[in-house]
Amino acid sequence: MKVRFWGTRGSLPVAQRADAALAKIARALVAADGRRFASEAAAAAFARRELDFATYGSFGGATSCVEIEASEEAFVVCDMGSGLREFGLSALRRCAEGHPRVYHFFLSHMHWDHIMGFPYFRPAFETGATIVIHAGHADAEAALRRQQEEISFPVSFDELKARIQFVVHRPEEAFEAAGLEVSLVPQSHAHGSFGWRFDRPGKAVVYSTDAEHAPERMDDEVDFQDFFAGADLVIKDTMYSLGDTASLKLDLGHSSNLVGVDLCHAAGVKRLALFHHEPAYSDDDIQRMYDDTRRYEESVRGERPPLEVVCAYDGLEIEI
Ligand SMILES: [Zn+2]
Ligand SMILES: [Zn+2]
Repeated sequence: MKVRFWGTRGSLPVAQRADAALAKIARALVAADGRRFASEAAAAAFARRELDFATYGSFGGATSCVEIEASEEAFVVCDMGSGLREFGLSALRRCAEGHPRVYHFFLSHMHWDHIMGFPYFRPAFETGATIVIHAGHADAEAALRRQQEEISFPVSFDELKARIQFVVHRPEEAFEAAGLEVSLVPQSHAHGSFGWRFDRPGKAVVYSTDAEHAPERMDDEVDFQDFFAGADLVIKDTMYSLGDTASLKLDLGHSSNLVGVDLCHAAGVKRLALFHHEPAYSDDDIQRMYDDTRRYEESVRGERPPLEVVCAYDGLEIEI
Protein backbone atom coordinates (compact mmCIF):
# COMPACT_ATOMS: atom_id res chain seq x y z
CA MET A 1 0.00 0.00 0.00
CA LYS A 2 1.33 3.43 -0.86
CA VAL A 3 -0.19 6.79 0.14
CA ARG A 4 0.47 9.75 -2.12
CA PHE A 5 -0.39 13.31 -1.07
CA TRP A 6 -1.52 15.52 -3.97
CA GLY A 7 -2.92 18.34 -1.83
CA THR A 8 -2.38 18.98 1.88
CA ARG A 9 -3.51 22.57 2.50
CA GLY A 10 -6.80 23.44 4.21
CA SER A 11 -9.55 25.85 3.21
CA LEU A 12 -7.92 27.66 0.31
CA PRO A 13 -5.04 26.93 -2.09
CA VAL A 14 -1.95 29.04 -1.52
CA ALA A 15 0.92 29.87 -3.85
CA GLN A 16 4.54 30.59 -2.99
CA ARG A 17 5.46 34.24 -3.28
CA ALA A 18 8.73 35.72 -4.46
CA ASP A 19 9.67 37.03 -1.02
CA ALA A 20 9.23 33.57 0.53
CA ALA A 21 11.44 31.96 -2.14
CA LEU A 22 14.08 34.65 -1.65
CA ALA A 23 14.09 34.13 2.12
CA LYS A 24 14.75 30.39 1.60
CA ILE A 25 17.64 31.06 -0.79
CA ALA A 26 19.16 33.66 1.55
CA ARG A 27 18.98 31.28 4.51
CA ALA A 28 20.57 28.48 2.47
CA LEU A 29 23.43 30.73 1.34
CA VAL A 30 24.14 31.80 4.91
CA ALA A 31 24.11 28.14 6.02
CA ALA A 32 26.49 27.20 3.18
CA ASP A 33 28.98 29.66 4.70
CA GLY A 34 31.17 30.02 1.62
CA ARG A 35 31.29 26.30 0.71
CA ARG A 36 31.74 25.46 -2.97
CA PHE A 37 29.69 22.76 -4.68
CA ALA A 38 30.78 20.93 -7.82
CA SER A 39 27.21 20.49 -9.10
CA GLU A 40 23.59 21.35 -8.36
CA ALA A 41 23.15 17.75 -7.16
CA ALA A 42 25.92 18.24 -4.59
CA ALA A 43 24.33 21.51 -3.45
CA ALA A 44 20.94 19.77 -3.17
CA ALA A 45 22.48 16.98 -1.08
CA PHE A 46 23.95 19.60 1.27
CA ALA A 47 20.57 21.36 1.53
CA ARG A 48 18.77 18.15 2.41
CA ARG A 49 21.38 17.25 5.01
CA GLU A 50 21.88 20.63 6.68
CA LEU A 51 18.64 22.60 6.29
CA ASP A 52 15.14 22.02 7.57
CA PHE A 53 12.37 21.09 5.15
CA ALA A 54 10.77 24.54 5.36
CA THR A 55 14.01 26.01 3.94
CA TYR A 56 14.97 23.52 1.22
CA GLY A 57 11.38 22.56 0.32
CA SER A 58 7.78 23.61 0.82
CA PHE A 59 4.73 21.98 2.30
CA GLY A 60 2.86 23.10 -0.80
CA GLY A 61 -0.41 24.84 -1.35
CA ALA A 62 -2.92 22.54 -3.08
CA THR A 63 -6.01 21.59 -1.09
CA SER A 64 -7.01 18.12 0.14
CA CYS A 65 -6.44 15.23 -2.21
CA VAL A 66 -4.83 11.94 -1.14
CA GLU A 67 -4.34 8.84 -3.27
CA ILE A 68 -4.18 5.41 -1.71
CA GLU A 69 -2.44 3.04 -4.08
CA ALA A 70 -3.72 -0.29 -2.92
CA SER A 71 -5.36 -1.98 -5.84
CA GLU A 72 -4.53 -3.12 -9.36
CA GLU A 73 -8.13 -2.66 -10.40
CA ALA A 74 -8.84 1.00 -9.62
CA PHE A 75 -7.49 4.31 -8.36
CA VAL A 76 -8.53 5.15 -4.80
CA VAL A 77 -8.66 8.86 -3.92
CA CYS A 78 -9.79 10.75 -0.84
CA ASP A 79 -11.30 14.16 -1.61
CA MET A 80 -11.15 16.33 -4.70
CA GLY A 81 -9.34 19.49 -3.60
CA SER A 82 -7.17 21.49 -5.98
CA GLY A 83 -4.50 18.74 -5.76
CA LEU A 84 -6.83 16.58 -7.87
CA ARG A 85 -5.73 18.33 -11.05
CA GLU A 86 -2.16 16.99 -10.70
CA PHE A 87 -3.43 13.56 -9.72
CA GLY A 88 -5.61 13.49 -12.86
CA LEU A 89 -2.61 14.18 -15.09
CA SER A 90 -0.58 11.47 -13.35
CA ALA A 91 -3.49 9.02 -13.66
CA LEU A 92 -3.77 9.66 -17.41
CA ARG A 93 -0.07 8.79 -17.79
CA ARG A 94 -0.55 5.60 -15.80
CA CYS A 95 -3.67 4.67 -17.80
CA ALA A 96 -1.63 5.08 -21.00
CA GLU A 97 0.60 2.35 -19.55
CA GLY A 98 -2.34 0.02 -18.93
CA HIS A 99 -3.87 1.02 -15.58
CA PRO A 100 -7.68 0.47 -15.60
CA ARG A 101 -9.60 3.72 -16.05
CA VAL A 102 -11.62 3.24 -12.90
CA TYR A 103 -11.63 5.78 -10.07
CA HIS A 104 -13.10 5.39 -6.60
CA PHE A 105 -13.43 8.67 -4.72
CA PHE A 106 -14.22 8.99 -1.02
CA LEU A 107 -15.54 12.40 0.01
CA SER A 108 -15.06 13.71 3.54
CA HIS A 109 -17.61 16.45 2.82
CA MET A 110 -18.38 19.02 0.15
CA HIS A 111 -16.79 22.24 1.39
CA TRP A 112 -15.13 23.91 -1.56
CA ASP A 113 -11.58 23.07 -0.61
CA HIS A 114 -12.54 19.37 -0.89
CA ILE A 115 -14.35 19.42 -4.23
CA MET A 116 -12.87 22.38 -6.18
CA GLY A 117 -10.51 20.12 -8.16
CA PHE A 118 -13.23 18.07 -9.83
CA PRO A 119 -14.03 20.51 -12.67
CA TYR A 120 -10.30 20.30 -13.57
CA PHE A 121 -10.09 16.51 -13.33
CA ARG A 122 -9.15 15.54 -16.87
CA PRO A 123 -10.20 11.86 -16.69
CA ALA A 124 -13.82 13.02 -16.11
CA PHE A 125 -13.74 14.38 -19.69
CA GLU A 126 -12.80 10.96 -21.12
CA THR A 127 -15.25 8.53 -22.62
CA GLY A 128 -14.55 5.10 -21.19
CA ALA A 129 -13.52 6.23 -17.71
CA THR A 130 -15.62 5.08 -14.75
CA ILE A 131 -15.85 7.30 -11.68
CA VAL A 132 -17.54 6.09 -8.51
CA ILE A 133 -18.01 8.76 -5.85
CA HIS A 134 -18.56 7.39 -2.37
CA ALA A 135 -20.02 9.77 0.19
CA GLY A 136 -21.73 9.78 3.54
CA HIS A 137 -23.77 12.80 2.46
CA ALA A 138 -26.95 12.32 0.44
CA ASP A 139 -26.41 15.78 -1.11
CA ALA A 140 -22.90 15.06 -2.49
CA GLU A 141 -24.18 14.85 -6.07
CA ALA A 142 -26.08 18.14 -5.72
CA ALA A 143 -22.90 19.86 -4.47
CA LEU A 144 -20.77 18.63 -7.37
CA ARG A 145 -23.41 19.51 -9.96
CA ARG A 146 -23.89 22.96 -8.44
CA GLN A 147 -20.22 23.95 -8.71
CA GLN A 148 -20.40 23.28 -12.46
CA GLU A 149 -23.56 25.28 -13.10
CA GLU A 150 -23.15 27.81 -15.88
CA ILE A 151 -22.79 30.78 -13.56
CA SER A 152 -19.65 29.23 -12.03
CA PHE A 153 -18.05 27.02 -14.69
CA PRO A 154 -18.23 26.73 -18.48
CA VAL A 155 -18.65 22.93 -18.66
CA SER A 156 -21.72 21.47 -16.98
CA PHE A 157 -21.63 18.23 -15.05
CA ASP A 158 -23.85 16.56 -17.67
CA GLU A 159 -21.29 17.31 -20.38
CA LEU A 160 -18.63 15.19 -18.68
CA LYS A 161 -17.91 12.09 -20.74
CA ALA A 162 -16.96 9.62 -18.01
CA ARG A 163 -19.53 7.28 -16.49
CA ILE A 164 -20.11 8.85 -13.07
CA GLN A 165 -21.93 7.13 -10.27
CA PHE A 166 -22.67 8.32 -6.73
CA VAL A 167 -22.98 5.87 -3.84
CA VAL A 168 -24.21 7.10 -0.46
CA HIS A 169 -23.13 5.01 2.52
CA ARG A 170 -24.34 4.71 6.09
CA PRO A 171 -21.71 4.86 8.83
CA GLU A 172 -22.66 1.56 10.44
CA GLU A 173 -22.27 -0.43 7.20
CA ALA A 174 -18.76 -1.39 6.06
CA PHE A 175 -18.46 -2.24 2.38
CA GLU A 176 -15.93 -3.40 -0.20
CA ALA A 177 -14.52 -1.16 -2.93
CA ALA A 178 -11.47 -1.58 -5.17
CA GLY A 179 -10.42 -4.64 -3.17
CA LEU A 180 -10.44 -2.77 0.14
CA GLU A 181 -12.73 -3.06 3.12
CA VAL A 182 -14.04 0.46 3.70
CA SER A 183 -15.87 2.00 6.65
CA LEU A 184 -16.84 5.55 7.58
CA VAL A 185 -17.52 7.52 10.73
CA PRO A 186 -19.46 10.79 11.17
CA GLN A 187 -17.37 13.72 12.42
CA SER A 188 -18.11 17.03 14.06
CA HIS A 189 -17.91 19.76 11.39
CA ALA A 190 -20.22 22.31 9.74
CA HIS A 191 -22.78 20.31 7.68
CA GLY A 192 -21.04 17.19 9.01
CA SER A 193 -18.04 15.33 7.62
CA PHE A 194 -16.95 11.68 7.43
CA GLY A 195 -13.71 9.91 8.20
CA TRP A 196 -12.81 6.91 6.06
CA ARG A 197 -10.93 3.76 7.00
CA PHE A 198 -9.40 1.43 4.40
CA ASP A 199 -8.42 -2.08 5.46
CA ARG A 200 -6.56 -4.78 3.64
CA PRO A 201 -5.31 -7.88 5.48
CA GLY A 202 -2.60 -6.63 7.83
CA LYS A 203 -2.79 -2.97 6.68
CA ALA A 204 -5.06 -0.06 7.58
CA VAL A 205 -5.11 3.60 6.60
CA VAL A 206 -7.50 6.22 8.03
CA TYR A 207 -8.33 9.51 6.33
CA SER A 208 -9.94 11.84 8.86
CA THR A 209 -10.04 15.51 8.00
CA ASP A 210 -12.20 18.48 8.95
CA ALA A 211 -13.14 16.97 12.27
CA GLU A 212 -13.29 18.79 15.56
CA HIS A 213 -12.05 16.97 18.64
CA ALA A 214 -12.05 19.44 21.48
CA PRO A 215 -9.47 18.77 24.22
CA GLU A 216 -12.11 19.21 26.95
CA ARG A 217 -14.29 16.49 25.44
CA MET A 218 -11.66 13.82 24.81
CA ASP A 219 -13.55 11.30 26.98
CA ASP A 220 -16.33 11.39 24.36
CA GLU A 221 -13.96 10.29 21.62
CA VAL A 222 -14.24 6.53 22.21
CA ASP A 223 -15.84 6.06 18.77
CA PHE A 224 -12.73 7.53 17.17
CA GLN A 225 -10.41 5.36 19.21
CA ASP A 226 -12.25 2.34 17.80
CA PHE A 227 -12.19 3.77 14.29
CA PHE A 228 -8.46 4.57 14.41
CA ALA A 229 -7.55 1.38 16.33
CA GLY A 230 -4.20 -0.10 15.31
CA ALA A 231 -4.04 1.79 12.00
CA ASP A 232 -0.68 1.90 10.22
CA LEU A 233 -1.34 5.50 9.21
CA VAL A 234 -3.88 8.13 10.27
CA ILE A 235 -4.09 11.20 8.04
CA LYS A 236 -5.54 13.77 10.38
CA ASP A 237 -6.72 17.33 10.13
CA THR A 238 -4.43 19.22 12.51
CA MET A 239 -5.14 22.65 11.17
CA TYR A 240 -4.16 24.73 14.18
CA SER A 241 -1.50 24.53 16.82
CA LEU A 242 -3.08 24.09 20.24
CA GLY A 243 -1.92 27.61 21.13
CA ASP A 244 -3.95 29.08 18.26
CA THR A 245 -6.94 26.91 19.08
CA ALA A 246 -6.96 28.31 22.61
CA SER A 247 -6.02 31.94 21.92
CA LEU A 248 -8.33 32.46 18.95
CA LYS A 249 -11.11 30.46 20.65
CA LEU A 250 -11.62 28.68 17.37
CA ASP A 251 -14.68 26.58 16.96
CA LEU A 252 -14.47 25.97 13.25
CA GLY A 253 -14.70 22.21 13.15
CA HIS A 254 -10.97 21.46 13.06
CA SER A 255 -8.49 19.95 15.48
CA SER A 256 -5.11 20.82 16.92
CA ASN A 257 -1.88 18.92 16.39
CA LEU A 258 -1.79 17.81 20.05
CA VAL A 259 -5.32 16.40 20.05
CA GLY A 260 -4.29 14.38 16.98
CA VAL A 261 -1.38 12.88 18.94
CA ASP A 262 -3.59 12.09 21.96
CA LEU A 263 -6.21 10.33 19.83
CA CYS A 264 -3.63 8.31 17.91
CA HIS A 265 -1.80 7.28 21.08
CA ALA A 266 -5.04 6.14 22.68
CA ALA A 267 -5.89 4.10 19.58
CA GLY A 268 -2.46 2.43 19.22
CA VAL A 269 -1.82 4.05 15.81
CA LYS A 270 1.65 3.57 14.30
CA ARG A 271 1.97 6.75 12.24
CA LEU A 272 0.19 10.11 12.19
CA ALA A 273 0.31 12.47 9.20
CA LEU A 274 -0.40 16.11 10.05
CA PHE A 275 -2.70 17.38 7.30
CA HIS A 276 -5.00 20.22 6.12
CA HIS A 277 -2.53 22.97 6.98
CA GLU A 278 -3.86 26.44 7.73
CA PRO A 279 -3.48 28.60 4.57
CA ALA A 280 -2.18 31.57 6.59
CA TYR A 281 0.75 29.48 7.92
CA SER A 282 4.12 29.92 6.22
CA ASP A 283 6.40 26.94 5.68
CA ASP A 284 8.28 28.04 8.82
CA ASP A 285 5.02 28.09 10.82
CA ILE A 286 4.15 24.55 9.69
CA GLN A 287 7.71 23.37 10.40
CA ARG A 288 7.45 24.82 13.93
CA MET A 289 4.14 23.08 14.53
CA TYR A 290 5.63 19.82 13.24
CA ASP A 291 8.65 20.13 15.58
CA ASP A 292 6.36 20.98 18.53
CA THR A 293 4.16 17.98 17.73
CA ARG A 294 7.10 15.57 17.76
CA ARG A 295 8.33 17.00 21.06
CA TYR A 296 4.83 16.67 22.52
CA GLU A 297 4.56 13.06 21.30
CA GLU A 298 7.82 12.19 23.06
CA SER A 299 6.77 13.91 26.27
CA VAL A 300 3.41 12.11 26.59
CA ARG A 301 4.49 8.73 25.18
CA GLY A 302 5.29 7.13 28.54
CA GLU A 303 5.53 3.34 28.26
CA ARG A 304 3.59 3.23 25.00
CA PRO A 305 5.28 2.40 21.70
CA PRO A 306 6.32 5.54 19.80
CA LEU A 307 3.88 7.19 17.43
CA GLU A 308 5.77 8.31 14.34
CA VAL A 309 4.62 11.80 13.33
CA VAL A 310 5.07 12.97 9.76
CA CYS A 311 4.02 16.30 8.31
CA ALA A 312 2.21 15.86 5.01
CA TYR A 313 3.30 17.96 2.05
CA ASP A 314 2.25 18.06 -1.59
CA GLY A 315 4.24 15.27 -3.24
CA LEU A 316 4.91 13.16 -0.12
CA GLU A 317 4.66 9.39 -0.58
CA ILE A 318 4.41 6.99 2.33
CA GLU A 319 4.90 3.24 1.95
CA ILE A 320 2.70 1.30 4.34
ZN1 LIG B 1 -11.30 21.63 4.60
ZN1 LIG C 1 -14.68 21.72 5.89
